[in-house]
Amino acid sequence: MKYQSKIENNTLRCEICPRMCHLKEGQVGYCNTRKNINSNIELIVFAKCASIALDPIEKKPLYHFLPASNILSFGTLGCNMGCLFCQNWNITKVKPNEYKYPLQKITPFEIVNIALQNNYKSIAFTYNDPVAFFEYALETAKLAKKSGIKTVAVSAGYINKEPLKEFLTYVDAINIDLKAFSEEFYKKYCNASLDTILDNLKYIKHNTNTHLEITTLLIEGLNDSDDILKKECSWILNNLGESTILHFSAFHPDYKLLNYPKTSLKTLLKAYNIAKSEGLKYVYSGNILNKETSTTYCPKCNKAVIERYGFKVLNFNIINSNCKYCGAKIDGVF
Ligand code: SF4
Repeated sequence: MKYQSKIENNTLRCEICPRMCHLKEGQVGYCNTRKNINSNIELIVFAKCASIALDPIEKKPLYHFLPASNILSFGTLGCNMGCLFCQNWNITKVKPNEYKYPLQKITPFEIVNIALQNNYKSIAFTYNDPVAFFEYALETAKLAKKSGIKTVAVSAGYINKEPLKEFLTYVDAINIDLKAFSEEFYKKYCNASLDTILDNLKYIKHNTNTHLEITTLLIEGLNDSDDILKKECSWILNNLGESTILHFSAFHPDYKLLNYPKTSLKTLLKAYNIAKSEGLKYVYSGNILNKETSTTYCPKCNKAVIERYGFKVLNFNIINSNCKYCGAKIDGVF
């Protein structure tokens, strides 16, 4: 593995994410997917799939990248984040040797071949965070690029700059889960740091060609106050720009956060309105059906240019990246 260094005699340091785990011979990292084997850190879930499926790209969620297409999606086990509210904990929090189902052996070459043979336009690294299976995702992205297939990553963005830089040379679109606009929240509920994520968001926006969308899962009483939402939207506006695509999605009680309610539509709409009034052009709500806040409006004439219901695109009124009605540019990859 490329991102590692020797600390002392039999200890290696993994340098993929800011945890920088020190691993003695036989030890496994915080993410449960990297192990020091014979003085080399290896990804023990390489070519081992926990789930592979064909999803609508809107499910990632990506609303401004190849809308209405299906994406071949896969993930492994493990995660380098420590979110107490994880909505996928049955695959992220489990150790590969304790998983109750067999993992499917699929190499990067085979994944790209599945996409080619079935004429799928894109492949997603999703279900669990691709930082936990970086080497597997990277090799797949490299092969996909050679074959003209786009790749998408769904991640919390808790990764060191060098591996991020290399990864995004090959990845065409990314959705970053911005968990909350609060360092305290990141420490207490995710065992991670907001600063790293914000820095990586700026890097993605200004130093790469990767299409970026952001998702914040709203948990009532924890990260949904007017103040915190205004701060998040104003930071996005000032650091990433008004055309940044922002999704608010609804939480359901899961993993260790069972004593918080399901997020209501009212809360999603409040966040949506705050983001719009702060000046963001493309804002969406997700996980609860609501046509009005799943629609893309032209920033100039305000007509509906992409109407959605759930993951389904009902109407598509964009021609060559421009609004069909007034000709204004709609940001994204269409
Ligand atoms: S990727 Fe995993 S092993 Fe490497 S530093 Fe992060 S948590 Fe530790």
